[in-house]
Amino acid sequence: MSDVKRSKTKNNYSSSEEDDTECLYCSHLYSESTGGWVQCPVCRLWAHCLCAGVEDEDEETEFMCEKCAN
Ligand SMILES: [Zn+2]
Ligand SMILES: [Zn+2]
Repeated sequence: MSDVKRSKTKNNYSSSEEDDTECLYCSHLYSESTGGWVQCPVCRLWAHCLCAGVEDEDEETEFMCEKCAN
């Protein structure tokens, strides 16, 4: 297992987690994104903190997606 060539440009250390999730706002994949994510407690969908407009570092953030907030 030496000299393994990869066609992907990004490192792929997500092989143990097959459940890839996409941001409900921008649809980018969790495995291909960096930065904080928040989960809507109602529909369990995920979103980037940036897309959701919440503070990345605030662990107490109460996030609810637009669908569930209405
Ligand atoms: Zn996003
Ligand atoms: Zn929701």
